[in-house]
Amino acid sequence: MDFEKLTIPEIHKQFHEGKTSAVELVERALEVIGKKEKDLGSFISLDREEALKAAEKVDKKIARGEELGILEGVPFALKANIVMKDKIATCGSQILENFVSPYDATVVKKLKEAGAIVIGRTNMDEFAMGSSTETSFYKKTRNPHDRTRVPGGSSGGSAVAVASGEVVFALGSDTAGSVRQPAAFCGVVGLKPTYGAISRYGLVAMASSLDQIGPITRNITDCVLVQRVIQGPDAYDSTCVKDKRNSSRYDLESIQNLGVKGLKIGVPQEYFEKGLDKKVKEKVEAVIKLLEKKGAKTEKVSLPHTDYAIATYYILSPAEVSSNLARYDGIRYGYSAMVDPDKKTDDLLSVYLESRKEGFGNEAKRRIMVGTYVLSSGYYDAYYLKAQKVRSLIRKDFESVFKKVDFLITPTTPTLAFKLGEKLDDPLQMYMSDVMTVPSSLAGVPTLSLPCGTIEKDDKKLPVGLQLIGNYFEEAKLFQVACAIEKLVNK
Ligand code: GLN
Repeated sequence: MDFEKLTIPEIHKQFHEGKTSAVELVERALEVIGKKEKDLGSFISLDREEALKAAEKVDKKIARGEELGILEGVPFALKANIVMKDKIATCGSQILENFVSPYDATVVKKLKEAGAIVIGRTNMDEFAMGSSTETSFYKKTRNPHDRTRVPGGSSGGSAVAVASGEVVFALGSDTAGSVRQPAAFCGVVGLKPTYGAISRYGLVAMASSLDQIGPITRNITDCVLVQRVIQGPDAYDSTCVKDKRNSSRYDLESIQNLGVKGLKIGVPQEYFEKGLDKKVKEKVEAVIKLLEKKGAKTEKVSLPHTDYAIATYYILSPAEVSSNLARYDGIRYGYSAMVDPDKKTDDLLSVYLESRKEGFGNEAKRRIMVGTYVLSSGYYDAYYLKAQKVRSLIRKDFESVFKKVDFLITPTTPTLAFKLGEKLDDPLQMYMSDVMTVPSSLAGVPTLSLPCGTIEKDDKKLPVGLQLIGNYFEEAKLFQVACAIEKLVNK
């Protein structure tokens, strides 16, 4: 058994055939983590005892010959901004260093009920702000394909945990690329579902009108299996869509077998222009050719407001960040300067100021400042309101293009994984690495990144990610196309 490569259906089969046990799998996961963690830094905390106990329960079920759910006994990891009862949820920040959650996020509750086993919480950029997993208060995470490079971010810990074989799948959160970009850099699958498909209850808010939880997996089938469990309405999240569009009853067999014949692929020109690495472009174009051979039709399309997406996002998201992060005041929960005898905290304002000064890192402070500025009276109309209007135009771009084509195909990122430290001191450069993932987040449409090959650089094989963008709640179509691509690329 090669634990580092096992997929969910293979695990299920092995349980049935008595070839492995849930305890053995958890032990293997912990062993791989023990071996690789020092180098990769993907985890912030581990749940050894609880994981082994949960595995024993699954093994008892197997011994009694009871029916097993498909996720039962499967070890997975949670990004550190998804809360779990009685466990810390640091969000990669010092300000939540000691915060223990009193409840389970809805996705955690659903996965626990499905019998999946949490191994631990993964490292992330502070409060999910970043594209490299270098801004965590705790550690930096490294790319398993080249340790001198970033894994992408902000869900870098989750992507690395899956790519390096530490767990079978992981959850990340994606506000504008944080599942897809690290998935692309690490050579795994990552889905940002339609906004409103998965409950955000228990996901610590960064920019609430954009945040979505998404699965990171070793292949498309696993992604469908996880998405099936975590998707759907939730009484605790009023933005989670309650009608029948939000159905997670994916038919795995048709997803795996329908192929792409007769489908119309849109190739948005704006994504293949300046700034795109030539080799990345060639890889994606090669896949487009393969799809054409399999009977898909391609059409060049345009999303004319793409150029404005980054600017729009970096006004709207800091605005929401500044509001969401206002709750960390040193009084209700999280780090408080009051506990430090050296800090002057004899009035309320000093408690706020000192706690926030100590507790937040630079990127969080930068966004709080920008966000407060664009929301302030006098600037609100010029920045925030204007950005909201541009967001509507970006959404309309997607709506009109989906009247003509079934889905869009683009690279996930303009370049391969960059070097650690390369963009850390240049926030604008860092922000630009999201140029291909931001627009679909602003529109709220589902988007999936999957590996489409590797490119050799400095004697290392670095993964290339391909992005599929679909119409609202058409995840099934994305899965179907992604399955076809997976087969073509792995031939
Ligand atoms: N990299 C983007 C940012 O820093 C997106 C982050 C995310 O998707 N959480 O805001």
